[in-house]
Amino acid sequence: MAKDTAKPVILWFRKDLRLDDNRALHAVHRSGRPVIPLYISEPESAGTGPLGAAQAWWLHHSLEALDGSLREQQGRLVLASGEALEVLCAFIRESGAEAVFWNRRYDPAGISIDAHIKHELEKQAIEARSFGGQLLHEPSRLMTGNGTPYRVYTPFWRALEGGGEPEQPLEAPAKLRIASQLPKSEALESWKLLPTKPDWAVDFTDLWTPGEDGAHEKLRAFIEDALDGYKEIRDYPARPATSLLSPHLAFGEISPARIWDATRGLSKRVAAADVVHFRKEIAWREFSYHLLFHFPRLASNNWNERFDGFEWRNDDDDFKAWRRGMTGYPIVDAGMRQLWRHGWMHNRVRMIVASFLIKDLLIDWRRGEAWFRDTLVDADPANNAASWQWVAGSGADASPFFRIFNPVLQGEKFDPDGNYVRTYVPELRGLGAKYIHRPFEAPKSMLDEAGIALGQTYPKPIVDHANARNRALAAYNATRDAA
Ligand code: FAD
Repeated sequence: MAKDTAKPVILWFRKDLRLDDNRALHAVHRSGRPVIPLYISEPESAGTGPLGAAQAWWLHHSLEALDGSLREQQGRLVLASGEALEVLCAFIRESGAEAVFWNRRYDPAGISIDAHIKHELEKQAIEARSFGGQLLHEPSRLMTGNGTPYRVYTPFWRALEGGGEPEQPLEAPAKLRIASQLPKSEALESWKLLPTKPDWAVDFTDLWTPGEDGAHEKLRAFIEDALDGYKEIRDYPARPATSLLSPHLAFGEISPARIWDATRGLSKRVAAADVVHFRKEIAWREFSYHLLFHFPRLASNNWNERFDGFEWRNDDDDFKAWRRGMTGYPIVDAGMRQLWRHGWMHNRVRMIVASFLIKDLLIDWRRGEAWFRDTLVDADPANNAASWQWVAGSGADASPFFRIFNPVLQGEKFDPDGNYVRTYVPELRGLGAKYIHRPFEAPKSMLDEAGIALGQTYPKPIVDHANARNRALAAYNATRDAA
């Protein structure tokens, strides 16, 4: 047992808002030194970018939840705002701390801030230690036979699958040694993370409980109710078929190793193919981070530079209609309204709305990526950029540009009864399955009966898909010819 005179360690929480399987926390605990749990709100100018509005809502509740867990251990979470290095140095002076521990982040801005901080702290003889655990494996661990990063998912997955099990998750320490003198904290309310007038997040709580307990409950419910059959039904947005773990992962409220571990030994209850498929999705997240780590320009530049000369139309009225879910294509509008209402959208529908924005409307994928960043509770620097570039055709191992989703056929295939559309586009509720994805082809008598006046109660399509498709292919061919 360390003596009472032991100097404290600052545990710097970032997007790892959990006590379970938190390697930095464990290391402090094992050292026997008292801990100062700290969260810093870093300014946008530091390079980490603006926090989206939906994630600000999440962050508020997640910090509250973490503070609650620490209070159960007679501690609390200290909140501070400012440049991270300045804040850390001030707290070190005030508390006499001799070390700062944190879990690594892998976005380009985060990496460079952390490297600078480590260097500066070590110059002052402060121990600065960082740990893994936000990913199953460090992004530089899995490399091709030539020692280069992977650019294609399937061999990456094979390497991950064959590369040994991820480290075992660590249980939260039963009794943390909290520093007896914790520095004064800023008040969470003063950060004004929650929306006020209007409170557009009112419906978020229908779906979400930010915080570690909420994450573990989502994992438990998914394994019990939805993992069996996941491979088959995960593409149907009206079915509660996916884990909804993405925002919890984005804030590090649960570790991927904990999720991986929970899907072990289920063979009696769940088909092996479902477990593998789910793990393959977790591996897509790993692959996105692998790409972002090795090719940081992926965050905001076309990974394939051939797309740099693409002639986007970037029409503002079309962009507004897309954001508001008023394009006249029901599956697109349902997705965009799900996003607004719950801060989340089903993966299949994300692909459809992204394809529609990029290809039918010829709007630069970066504008869609930025809108998602502001409105998704799970906005993630790696997954968001990599997925948008995947749909655009400009990314690594991307879907080719000429694969253009037909929003009507996609709707009919993946929402055959129209229940997803009816949930989010109530003005079409009275329409039967035959026309729910193509109201613009429905006989007038049927529209009248359903109380729909196209162009008034629900928009006419803002583009004709067949024409838009030809226009997109022509734009793509022009780019290719110019390259
Ligand atoms: P599940 O099906 O239960 O999957 C479990 C976990 O695997 C997810 O939580 C996620 O971490 C990971 N995962 C699943 N699918 C993918 C995928 N295609 N790519 C990478 N990881 C995946 N995901 C984000 O987490 N943040 C984003 O900002 C984001 N932006 C996207 C933008 C577009 C245009 C598209 C097409 C996809 C985007 N995705 C993003 C990927 C995917 O849509 C979500 O991860 C998924 O819908 C989350 O729901 P879930 O947790 O129920 O998924």
